[in-house]
Amino acid sequence: MSLDTAQQDPELPIPAGVFAEKVTSVEHYTDRLFKFRITRPPTFRFRSGEFVMIGLPNATKPVFRAYSIASPSWDEELEFYSIKVPGGPLTEHLQKVAVGDTVVMRKKPTGTLVNDALLPGKRLWMFSTGTGIAPFASLIRDPDTYEKFEEVILTHTCRDVEELKYGQELVAAVKDDPLVGECAQALRLYNSTTRAEFPFRGRITDLMVSGKLFEDLGVPPISPETDRGMICGSMAMLRDTKSALEGFGLVEGSNNRPDTFVVERAFVD
Ligand SMILES: Cc1cc2nc3c(=O)[nH]c(=O)nc-3n(C[C@H](O)[C@H](O)[C@H](O)COP(=O)(O)OP(=O)(O)OC[C@H]3O[C@@H](n4cnc5c(N)ncnc54)[C@H](O)[C@@H]3O)c2cc1C
Repeated sequence: MSLDTAQQDPELPIPAGVFAEKVTSVEHYTDRLFKFRITRPPTFRFRSGEFVMIGLPNATKPVFRAYSIASPSWDEELEFYSIKVPGGPLTEHLQKVAVGDTVVMRKKPTGTLVNDALLPGKRLWMFSTGTGIAPFASLIRDPDTYEKFEEVILTHTCRDVEELKYGQELVAAVKDDPLVGECAQALRLYNSTTRAEFPFRGRITDLMVSGKLFEDLGVPPISPETDRGMICGSMAMLRDTKSALEGFGLVEGSNNRPDTFVVERAFVD
């Protein structure tokens, strides 16, 4: 039997209790990063910023991995922004998906990077590294975000300049979008790199603690009176950014107990 590029096997049954959706587009950014979109099941509801478990129908018991839904809750399709891990049980196959292939998805979305988990405030900070930008790609396209916050600042830090492209193109598209474009004038993107030459260099925590981030943006330092935070990155980035926000007096919240900042892992180390 011949398998297609993402190693799909038409003879294997779709596991019970999952959605089976078709890939509608794929775009590769670097040899480590790509995005793809799939059809959205009509009954699937989620809050912008949540994640869901996805897999490929390539085994009797497919490997499922958590993925932030990068599209907003109003979108007719679902978008994902993905790493390609060499030899990774899911992504060594997922990186080969093509239009028309099937992606399987568990039915229950969840997550803490949702507007409901934050108390109202003036300025929302979204701190991301690498694929940690994915939940914010959803939230910056959701009009609710701009109803709740006057100003939204998305920070995205990567090693290299090409890894910033997904976020840069997205922010430009959001500002031109007929639905959210007008309110998204309140959105600002702050990029920094940790390896390549770039106007803003360094880890976001260092830029926060030194105050350079606030100088570069022309905003006052973070204060619990006005500012709210969301963080998505590696465990080390979460730990350091969380401690920087706590240093400014912010307190971690959750769905059950909204407060002034929330965190989610971008992946398990
Ligand atoms: C809540 C949550 C949301 C997630 N959302 C996304 C998402 O939107 N996009 C995405 O690409 N991944 C996301 N992940 C990671 C994802 O679940 C998988 O780990 C990833 O797709 C790789 O799967 P794999 O089976 O190929 O390799 P795995 O066996 O899962 O991972 C192998 C190793 O690769 C590294 N790694 C895994 N994922 C990443 C990553 N995203 N960035 C850098 N290094 C990584 C880690 O060191 C990991 O130990 C999320 C994880 C969690 C917990």
